[in-house]
Amino acid sequence: MSLLARVNKDVSAITPYEPGRPIEEVARELGLDPETIIKLASNESALGTSPRAVQAMHEALGTSYLYPDGGAWLLRNKLADRYGVDRSQVIVGNGSNEILEFVGHCFLNRQTSAVFSAHAFVVYKLVSVLFGARMIEVPMNDDLEHDLDAMLAAIEDDTSVVFLCNPNNPTGTMVDAAAVERFVEAVPENILVVMDEAYAELALRPMPDSIGLAKRKPNVLVCRTFSKAYGLAGLRLGYGLGAAPLVEALQKARQPFNVNLLAQVAGTAALDDDDFVAAGRQLCEESKVQLESGLDAMGLGYVPGFANFMLVEVGDGAGVTGRLQQAGVIVRPMGGYQLPTYIRVTFGTREQNQRFLTTLKAVLA
Ligand SMILES: *Cc1c(COP(=O)(O)O)cnc(C)c1O
Repeated sequence: MSLLARVNKDVSAITPYEPGRPIEEVARELGLDPETIIKLASNESALGTSPRAVQAMHEALGTSYLYPDGGAWLLRNKLADRYGVDRSQVIVGNGSNEILEFVGHCFLNRQTSAVFSAHAFVVYKLVSVLFGARMIEVPMNDDLEHDLDAMLAAIEDDTSVVFLCNPNNPTGTMVDAAAVERFVEAVPENILVVMDEAYAELALRPMPDSIGLAKRKPNVLVCRTFSKAYGLAGLRLGYGLGAAPLVEALQKARQPFNVNLLAQVAGTAALDDDDFVAAGRQLCEESKVQLESGLDAMGLGYVPGFANFMLVEVGDGAGVTGRLQQAGVIVRPMGGYQLPTYIRVTFGTREQNQRFLTTLKAVLA
């Protein structure tokens, strides 16, 4: 057998994740000045990085020769305080994506299935395939919202995990908070419910009491991240909150030093940066109004989003993405999400949003 034929089937079956393209790469490819390019493709913070985090990292740079605290005590204590849980109920990851992978290590295999919405965050699919679990993809309703009743009905005997992304990426839609709470309560307690709340701090509709559910129920894991509202995407830092026995199981799947020293320091400092988060949320609110009215004026359809991004209906999503890119505006095509007529645009600053609208208008003319 050749070497490559030996690659584990579940791994070779994976279609690689398509990230938003980096500014430098696009600049090189198109011969553009990087300064003239804006990236609205990965739902990153429009306000940059939390200044408190930057300051803390500056102070910690010289200690980079040391291994980080493998238990991430300071950071986990701080998160525990903030949410009124015990440190044993908090796990940190190299991005919340890593927490999703821990879920796979613990709960997904060839004898299990995972339930999630079609058009939900693609990492649920990646993790399911990686661990050989069967995927049960549930159609969304006509407004591209989770169909919670259908998701509940889709659970089968071998289902071990249900992934619920709220606000949902890439659609930006949010489900009613009380309906989410009823849904989570209705899932049998031997099935894990992953409440992926990457955009919780920016959400423009009420969030469900996910933390309350995680405190009360043994099968609820709330996943959040520092990548979006705190502007730390480049550091890779996320966390999960759940019952202590659940978190203890997940901890076993973790490598000893999975979260690096700078990320721990930055995250700990960023948690105090309420002003930064509030400003981001405010900008998110204003951007929604600005972009929706701009798109209305152009007569374009869109999916009203409740986080820092939205889907815009442009016809040929891949083609429009390419033409926007040539004009220095990077957005995300949605073919990989079976939404080929849409592009996903991340909310930028007021100027960036305007540039997006103007460029889109030119590209579609
Ligand atoms: C951005 C995002 C994440 C966060 O990923 P990190 O690994 O923490 O950067 C998780 N879930 C969803 C739905 C996201 O959009």
